[in-house]
Amino acid sequence: MPVVATIPERLQELGIVTIPLPTNFPVGPVNVYLLKNGPLTLVDTGVTSDESYEALASGMRAEGYAVADLERIIITHGHRDHMGQLGPLMKESGAESYGHPLIRAQGVAGVDDTLARRKFYVGILDEFGVPEEICGNANSLYTKFKRMTEPFEVTHSLNDDETVLDYEIYDMPGHSPSDTLLIDRAREFSIVGDHILTTIIPNPMLRRPENGAVREKALVDYIASLKKSRELDLNLCLPGHGPPFDNPGEVIDKILAKLEKRSETIFKLVAKGKNTPYRVSKRLFPKLQIQHIHLGLSIAVGHMEALEEEGRLRSYVDNGVLHFTPV
Ligand SMILES: [Zn+2]
Repeated sequence: MPVVATIPERLQELGIVTIPLPTNFPVGPVNVYLLKNGPLTLVDTGVTSDESYEALASGMRAEGYAVADLERIIITHGHRDHMGQLGPLMKESGAESYGHPLIRAQGVAGVDDTLARRKFYVGILDEFGVPEEICGNANSLYTKFKRMTEPFEVTHSLNDDETVLDYEIYDMPGHSPSDTLLIDRAREFSIVGDHILTTIIPNPMLRRPENGAVREKALVDYIASLKKSRELDLNLCLPGHGPPFDNPGEVIDKILAKLEKRSETIFKLVAKGKNTPYRVSKRLFPKLQIQHIHLGLSIAVGHMEALEEEGRLRSYVDNGVLHFTPV
């Protein structure tokens, strides 16, 4: 019988090094990957902070490289922990960068959308039924809202259904609108970002709609993307958080099962009168700190919208606040 290589052995053979970088988010450290075979490539960048930069530089040093040696940077999705340092790293290395067209457009526009973001996130608090006294608190938090990332430019698009740098590219909206899955068929590994994780259920984050558009239903999109990934016959997966894994089918099924279970819990909460996203999130995450309130609200409203899509809940607006009720 042939000896099956372990995941660390396969990574070593592929020239892939995992470098965990610290973040100040509840999720903990973020993985970036150094791909040493071929043009020196970094997958994701970590947040913009001195600690994050130092951890990256020292991780690269341990492999005999400097940040300035980077030739390519691939971005899995447009969240701060994954692309915060993109601008500075490109500046230092002159590397080309690859990312979802949405991230690319953001970079090209170069707009500081801090105000619009603040307005959206503060507005959501009222819309989702967060009580006045807590809203006031959170509001003051958002007045400190700083630019999310250093200015950056994405030089190449990772377009859905195309092959770029020998990777099959797939859009997998859900966790973020720009979640991108990259599959290297020849070398049998996939870059999955936060689309598929083993350590936590990826949170389909609330997203700010484009000017005037309706807010998209992130969890509904996420479930559809997971099902699509299930059919793609993935192999060894490199996730944005937690260890690499090679049983993606099982992992996806587990996530889907957990999501279904959580939907059931939330359905029961709504039936018992926890009828706003805030009331549900409060029950699910009683200890969630105020600065992370949107994480809890994202989960609550995501499931409530998914249940509405299934025809089990119905939404209505009362006094400007979004409510749900069993059908
Ligand atoms: Zn992440």
